[in-house]
Amino acid sequence: MHYIVLHLRYRLFLALNFLSVKTYKHIFFDLDHTLWDFDKSSEETVYELIEHYQLHINTPYTHIEFFNTFRKVNSDLWQLYNVGKTTKDLIRTERFKLIFESLNIPLTLLPKSIGDEYLASCPLKPNLIEYASDILEYLSKKYCLHILTNGFDDVQFLKLKHASINHYFDCIITSESTGKTKPHKKIFEFALTSAKTKRDECIMIGDNISTDIEGACNAGIDSVFYNPLGLKKEHKATYEIRHLKELKSLL
Ligand SMILES: [Mg+2]
Repeated sequence: MHYIVLHLRYRLFLALNFLSVKTYKHIFFDLDHTLWDFDKSSEETVYELIEHYQLHINTPYTHIEFFNTFRKVNSDLWQLYNVGKTTKDLIRTERFKLIFESLNIPLTLLPKSIGDEYLASCPLKPNLIEYASDILEYLSKKYCLHILTNGFDDVQFLKLKHASINHYFDCIITSESTGKTKPHKKIFEFALTSAKTKRDECIMIGDNISTDIEGACNAGIDSVFYNPLGLKKEHKATYEIRHLKELKSLL
């Protein structure tokens, strides 16, 4: 008798699990660091600018020292932008000034147009995260794909075009066009309306716990945390992957 009760409970558990499995129809992808290789592209661009302006000769710093400072300053600025504490214009005008200040290089040595040249060149780099094209090709046959990014319209569209992946996406939703940044619930609600779908049919894939995963959770949308370095981090994502090819067994 006890065995039968246990068995029925187990069957009920399986049935409920089966019923709760969601059928996704739409996938929202983050762009930078998830599909487009921001680190590789920015490193290439910064190295080109160092060579062009001979910064490795005119200052005491090596290429890698410049790039590491760029990465730290840029990441700090983006964290401020994500929480509404700085603006697009300030990121763009202050980035290289802050790098020079951080390295104690006199601002008289700062090339005037270096910020603009960085912006003109970096988004044209076609560098994608490993397996990004393959997984987009695979997923595009089963789902509607969209981009949901905190990046800015002018550069994000260029990145998608030059990396030859723009044709995979129906909606491209940016923080600039919606006036809200991830993790704000409103940018996700705007995304659902744009894609003409509802939360239960969607999943968000991104590398940033504070914006992509927290935001999806706030909006009641399932999520995949892309964690290529396998960092031990607390998160509320529905799934976690280290490589994009793992999406094939999930979706
Ligand atoms: Mg990202």
